[in-house]
Amino acid sequence: MGRATVFRTLRLFEDLGLCRRISPTQALGLFEPGNRTPHHDHMVCLRCGRIVEFFNPDIERLQDAEARRHGFLPVRHALEIAGYCRRCKGKTT
Ligand SMILES: [Zn+2]
Ligand SMILES: [Zn+2]
Repeated sequence: MGRATVFRTLRLFEDLGLCRRISPTQALGLFEPGNRTPHHDHMVCLRCGRIVEFFNPDIERLQDAEARRHGFLPVRHALEIAGYCRRCKGKTT
């Protein structure tokens, strides 16, 4: 089978959702529609309300993999870790 046929078949698979051509950054949900801020997740301090922004490619990958494992196509996510920041963790209220 010729090259053109291969490409047509791949196209068809894509249309059927059997395979996707997507850049790694898109796969990680780094581009949220209408939001130009690069993707990041949050840690929120329960005491002072401080928000720590973080980005960990390993976590992103794991979330992505987990979603796919459930047959879910991830588009975006928001990970929030609640707890106490560096300044607050030692203090008792
Ligand atoms: Zn994230
Ligand atoms: Zn705090």
